[in-house]
Amino acid sequence: MMWILFVASLGTNYKAMKAMQFNNAAEQIKNGLSDGAITVQTLENLAYNSEMCVLIQNRFGDTIYSFDMMAGKCLIHNTNTFALLAYRQNAIESPDGIYYTEIPNRRFNITTMLYVTIIGDRTNPDGFLFLNTSLEPLESSERIIVTQVMLIGILLLILGIGISYILARLIEAPITRIIKSAEILGSGDFNVQFDGHGYAETEILAETLEYSAKEIAKVDTLKRDLIANVSHDLRTPLTMIKAYAEMVRDLSGDNPKKRAEHINVIIDESDRLSDLVNDILDLSKLESGSQKLKLTEFDIVEHIRTLMGRYKLLSEKNGYKFIVSMPEKFMITADIIKLDQVLYNLINNAVNYTGESKEVYICVMPESENKARVEITDTGRGIKEEDLATIFERYYRTEKAKREVIGTGLGLSIVKEIMKLHGFKYGVMSEVGVGSTFWFEVERKTES
Ligand code: ADP
Repeated sequence: MMWILFVASLGTNYKAMKAMQFNNAAEQIKNGLSDGAITVQTLENLAYNSEMCVLIQNRFGDTIYSFDMMAGKCLIHNTNTFALLAYRQNAIESPDGIYYTEIPNRRFNITTMLYVTIIGDRTNPDGFLFLNTSLEPLESSERIIVTQVMLIGILLLILGIGISYILARLIEAPITRIIKSAEILGSGDFNVQFDGHGYAETEILAETLEYSAKEIAKVDTLKRDLIANVSHDLRTPLTMIKAYAEMVRDLSGDNPKKRAEHINVIIDESDRLSDLVNDILDLSKLESGSQKLKLTEFDIVEHIRTLMGRYKLLSEKNGYKFIVSMPEKFMITADIIKLDQVLYNLINNAVNYTGESKEVYICVMPESENKARVEITDTGRGIKEEDLATIFERYYRTEKAKREVIGTGLGLSIVKEIMKLHGFKYGVMSEVGVGSTFWFEVERKTES
């Protein structure tokens, strides 16, 4: 490209520069002639500096000054009078009084440039100025320059190809390594290492892929755990249901007391099963974000009171004590059904884990006009510090809970999702051997 542009512009530029030189020289000579300041010396200097032949004729065609710069190769000094007359005529006929052309000098096999201009008045000229130069230096230097530039071009091209090849190989190496690791990742090995060293971009790519692999691994473990937990939790009540159904069929069918007992177990286990399935469905709906809240304004104090009515049987039959501390009234904005789920889960957990004293405290504490904190406290065994961070994760159950208490391990993650959906803060404080307090904040949204 560079070579083509160079070759294409060289001749044109050179000729344009020559034309300018002619104009300047002609202007200088004509001015000098009109004010009489010109000398033979200045003319000669001008001819030397601009490398041109000069011929000045008077109006009759007599030579006034002549200087042959090109050692006999000058066109104006080697042509006949008729030709010079013709050039003069051309200058007279041209609109600006200048005749400018390229003429080949066949005798010397060169191209010359001719510049003819009128001295004095155009209609009544005092004389004519002929300037003439050869394009020979241009032609020979053009050949040299073009070859030179072509050589440089070829050299640069080879260099460019070489550098590109080396660069391509350098980038290719880490990319090939990353592709190989990605293939391993694709085949299911999430512990694969990505090596992208060599380039900043490939290093970032490798780090990003490694991060993605770790995230996929996490999701994969979670999925495995989920399937294992769900199938385990489904199998336990199913086994019980089957066993008791068989017992009713084979043994207790005719004994109404035993039969009722066994059928009750079947009903209880079926309830557990449907609770589990409902919890799983709830959680997946909440986590997928497809659940929309139906916000209403209601009195949480009154609501908790109604709710506590349902625990009456539990306290009468099993000796649980529910100690409630609430203001007269506190209006909040929430989804009443979802808030019920939260309260049920937390109170049920408190009941399940409260231990010997069988005491559960429920508090509603106003924090400001529109904000209150709800606390559900038990006096059970408490939760170990290291378990506190993970307690709201789905399927997380502390070691002890796994064996002792019936539960799905989904309750607290449902609480978490519902609180997140409402934008309410929530948390837990616990001391081992003393008890736990699960809390959340509720708010009344005032129109703004
Ligand atoms: P679960 O159905 O097992 O109760 P949750 O998600 O409700 O599932 O609770 C997760 C785990 O948190 C429980 O298995 C238990 O180990 C622990 N936990 C929850 N509430 C309490 C509490 N009040 N006291 C002690 N441990 C609790």
